[in-house]
Amino acid sequence: MMCAIHAARRGRKVLLLDHSKKLGGKILISGGGRCNFTNTGAGPANYVSRNPHFAKSALSRYSPDQFIEMVRNHGIAFHEKKLGQLFCDQSAQQIVDLLKSECDEAGAEFLLECPVKKIGRTDSGYKVETPQGEIHCQSLVVATGGLSIPKLGATGLGYQIARQFGLKIVETVPALDGFTFSESETRTFGKLAGLSIDCQITAKTASFRENILFTHAGLSGPAALQASLHWDRGEEIEINLLPETPDTFEWLMEKKKAGNRAKVTNLLSEILPSRFADCFTAIHLSTNEAELPLPQVSEKALKALCENLHHWKFIPKGTVGYSKAEVTRGGVDTDELSSKTMESKKNPGLYFIGEVVDVTGWLGGYNFQWAWASGWAAGQVV
Ligand SMILES: Cc1cc2nc3c(=O)[nH]c(=O)nc-3n(C[C@H](O)[C@H](O)[C@H](O)COP(=O)(O)OP(=O)(O)OC[C@H]3O[C@@H](n4cnc5c(N)ncnc54)[C@H](O)[C@@H]3O)c2cc1C
Repeated sequence: MMCAIHAARRGRKVLLLDHSKKLGGKILISGGGRCNFTNTGAGPANYVSRNPHFAKSALSRYSPDQFIEMVRNHGIAFHEKKLGQLFCDQSAQQIVDLLKSECDEAGAEFLLECPVKKIGRTDSGYKVETPQGEIHCQSLVVATGGLSIPKLGATGLGYQIARQFGLKIVETVPALDGFTFSESETRTFGKLAGLSIDCQITAKTASFRENILFTHAGLSGPAALQASLHWDRGEEIEINLLPETPDTFEWLMEKKKAGNRAKVTNLLSEILPSRFADCFTAIHLSTNEAELPLPQVSEKALKALCENLHHWKFIPKGTVGYSKAEVTRGGVDTDELSSKTMESKKNPGLYFIGEVVDVTGWLGGYNFQWAWASGWAAGQVV
C-alpha cells in the first residue's frame, strides 16, 4: 500500500492485488491490536540481512519521522511504549484506514480475493494470470510478505516469483518466535510456565535486555523473541538472569560473613521470582545443600550456582515456528536488487519490497518501518 500510494501520486495507474478478503491482515493483529507502526530509532543496525548495508538507502530516505507525520496528519493518537516503539492509542485498524485512504486519494485501485495463478513476461512488462482474468503491467511489485502465520494468508508466492525469474533466495526461517526446549529442559523448566524474568540474553553477538517468559515448552517474551532472530540451529544461547546484580556470589558471601542463616533459595527469592529460585537451586545445589543454611553451603557450590545464574547457557531445540513467528528471516537475496529502487537487477520492471526481501528487523516496529521505507523507495520509480 505504501508503494501504491507513492506510485499513484506520481500519476501511475496502480492496481493492488491480494488474495485476502481483508486489507493489511498483519497490521490488524500487530502490536496486540494496537500496531507498533514504527520505531523512532530505526536504523540499519536494527536489521538482519546477508548484506547489512542494503537497507541503508531506503531507511535513510524514508525515516520514521515521515511515517509519524502521516499518522499525525490523520489525527491518529499514539504513544511510545518503550525503547522508541510507537503504538496507536486506539486500534491498528487506524493504520490500515490511513493507508487505504491515502491509496484512494492517490487513485490506486484494489482487487481483493484475487489469487495469482501465474506470472509471465510480455513485450512491455509482465502479466499476472488470475481467475478474474489476465492483468498486464509495466512494473510488477512483489509485496507478498513472509511465511509467518499462514492462516492470515501468508504464502511463498514471492519466493516462487523470485525463483521463476532467476533470483537467489537466502534460506528462510521463522524468526521473532522464541525458543523451544529440548526434552530434558522441558521436564525441568516446563513447570515455570507463565513466569517472567528481566534478563540479558545473548545469541551470537546480539544481546538484549528485556523479559523472558517461560512457556510450557520453551522461552517466549520480548528478549527470547529478539534473540531468536539472531540464532541458528545448534548454537548456544546465554542468559544473564541477574543483570541488575553485578556479582551474586559476592552478594551471597557478604550475607554468609554476616551470619545470615537463610537457605540459598530464600535469599535468591529476594532478587528472583521464588518459583525460579527454587527450581534453579534444586538443579545446581545438591539436595542436601539446597536445604542447608547459607553458612553450611560450600563456596564452590555457591560459585557454580552464581556462574549459572549470570551465564545460563543451553542449546535450544529450535524456535517455535511459522505458526507464531512475527517474521520470516531470509528471503530474496539483496544482491539481486537495487538498494535504491528495489528493482531486480536482472529483470527490469520487477520489484520486491517488504518482508519478502532478505531484510528482517528486530522486534519493536522495525519491520513495519522497513515495509514503509522499501515500499516508498519502489513507489518513487515504478
Ligand atoms: C503477530 C504479528 C505481529 C506483528 N507485529 C508487528 C509490529 O507490531 N511491528 C512491526 O514492525 N512488525 C510487526 N510484525 C511484522 C509485520 O507485520 C511484517 O513484517 C509486515 O507486515 C510485512 O509487510 P509486507 O507488506 O512485506 O507483508 P504482509 O504484511 O505480510 O503482506 C503481504 C500481503 O500479501 C498477500 N499475499 C500473500 N501471498 C499471496 C498470494 N499468493 N496471492 C495474493 N496475495 C498474497 C497477503 O494476503 C498479504 O496481504 C508482526 C507480525 C506478526 C505475524
